[in-house]
Amino acid sequence: MKDNKSQDCLFCLIYKQKKDIIYENEYFYAQFDKFPVSPGHLEIISKRHLVSMFDLSIFEWEHLFPTIKDTIKIIKSTDFQDVYAKFLVNPLNQSSQDYCQQSLASLGIGKLPDGYNIGVNEGVAAGRSIDHFHLHIIPRYQGDVENPRGGVRNIIPNKGDY
Ligand SMILES: [Zn+2]
Repeated sequence: MKDNKSQDCLFCLIYKQKKDIIYENEYFYAQFDKFPVSPGHLEIISKRHLVSMFDLSIFEWEHLFPTIKDTIKIIKSTDFQDVYAKFLVNPLNQSSQDYCQQSLASLGIGKLPDGYNIGVNEGVAAGRSIDHFHLHIIPRYQGDVENPRGGVRNIIPNKGDY
């Protein structure tokens, strides 16, 4: 059955064009986010067009964990000064340019991450902006925010530090 939605899906398009893909295996590919929250922010994206993480097959699901470990290795061995300098040569838009410049100026640049936030915005209510499964890996650096306590609890402001 033909899937109409995949035709104008950004993540399907990126995979078709093989543009800026930094990793792939049988089920997933990965790219560095063009609006990085922190140096090294990347997304793991299913090769198959599906919207929800609950649509992943058991094979995809089992492969997700080793994929996370593989991409963490890539983050640890990548020079993000170089990555964002390249993004800035031909920026996606003004916002992407701002995010890349902020990452270049951040205290995490040139350092190994001290931690990671790893997560999925499952559903529009949870903040999903592209309707194709993707998992964010956001490296964290000691001192990148004043008080990191609570981590993902802070998705609802002031609910992190309990
Ligand atoms: Zn898609």
